[in-house]
Amino acid sequence: MTDGPQYGFDTLQIHAGARPDPATGARQTPIYQSTAFVFRDAEHAAALFNLQEVGYIYSRLTNPTVAVLQERVATLEGGAGAVCCSSGHAAQIMALFPLMAPGLNVVVSTRLYGGTVTQFSQTIKRFGWEATFVDFDDLDAVKAAINDKTRAVFCEAIANPGGYITDLDAISAIADAAEIPLIVDNTSATPYLCRPIEHGATLVVHSTTKYLTGNGTVTGGVVVDSGTFDWSANDKFPSLSAPEPAYHGLKFHETFGPLAFTFHGIAIGLRDLGMTMNPQAAHYTLMGTETLSLRMDRHVENAIKIAEWLENDDRVDYVTYAGLKSSPYYDRVAKICPRGAGGLFTFAVKGGYDACVKLVNALEIFSHVANLGDARSLIIHSASTTHRQLTAEQQRAAGAAPEVVRVSIGIEDAEDLIADLDQALSKAVS
Ligand SMILES: *Cc1c(COP(=O)(O)O)cnc(C)c1O
Repeated sequence: MTDGPQYGFDTLQIHAGARPDPATGARQTPIYQSTAFVFRDAEHAAALFNLQEVGYIYSRLTNPTVAVLQERVATLEGGAGAVCCSSGHAAQIMALFPLMAPGLNVVVSTRLYGGTVTQFSQTIKRFGWEATFVDFDDLDAVKAAINDKTRAVFCEAIANPGGYITDLDAISAIADAAEIPLIVDNTSATPYLCRPIEHGATLVVHSTTKYLTGNGTVTGGVVVDSGTFDWSANDKFPSLSAPEPAYHGLKFHETFGPLAFTFHGIAIGLRDLGMTMNPQAAHYTLMGTETLSLRMDRHVENAIKIAEWLENDDRVDYVTYAGLKSSPYYDRVAKICPRGAGGLFTFAVKGGYDACVKLVNALEIFSHVANLGDARSLIIHSASTTHRQLTAEQQRAAGAAPEVVRVSIGIEDAEDLIADLDQALSKAVS
């Protein structure tokens, strides 16, 4: 699709980035299952390798099927460009890689996906990077955590395990004042519910594994660049502003302007880190994006019905869903994600740990899995699975207290999901 009128989200989620295949007229984007692409001649090859011409060389760097997905997600997020990679966790490393160096740090929210907490608190230390965890509702603490070695601020729009919405406008104002980029993980919200760039985010990352694909088939990730950050304002970001020895002294920001981060992601990130998305995965995710808005509307509609039902049930202690009027974050929904607070939340079962274990065993439609954002409803008892290595206090701080289960509400009939929860709660709580 070419630049035309301002199309709506439903049109863009189907058409952005795609056009009939120029070779065959195929209407659906083909899966270009090819490792390499033939150069027209030696000059063409040289121009591609010098980054003087854009084209396909080798699928570790770029692939035509993956490129359609990159353009589609960039468009839906309102960004300048995007780079796909092999998973959501790969996307986080790809986002930080051009910004960080040994001795530098990133200021991150305490409310994050469990795997991200581990990646940031343990694994990135091996690169000499440091993460400072802060409560992002305490804006003074966020400001205080930023120092001259900080190169990014990181949070989730709707934070996993659900029930928390980050005040992106307030956080981006702090990042702006410190002249550092804000990176927002928009996995739980998707660009249909939240557009972080409109709230001041510099970069948006996704686990495309979740709602963007929407059916639990493939893992993938993407980094979207707003194209608005001035990487050359000071000497904090030499990967983007200083001469790059591997490309004859080319300066990414000077040469590629708003596409600097995207080109760096492909030419350095994917080239050398190799966390590439394969064309099959891109195909599944492209299929998923076509119905994103329809699914998200239903996820939200079902989540509200089920959260309200649970909140009024005697066997349930409390429900943390930002879409409930009882939530302290209810007012932020209208500002940050006006189309709804997503499909993820937690609830506490009377009877604690043992009742939770019985509940997950008794459910018939809900599957007990470590995943979210699927068309089908999912549940996990974090304290006995993903968070079982933590102490009870640590579990509580992570929103994974022993008496709490997390649900990812699917797009089935809400009445059937409620009936399933009802029968399982009867078995769990006596
Ligand atoms: C799943 C998830 C990730 C990690 O993504 P993978 O594709 O599993 O690597 C990161 N952030 C959030 C919010 C997630 O839900």
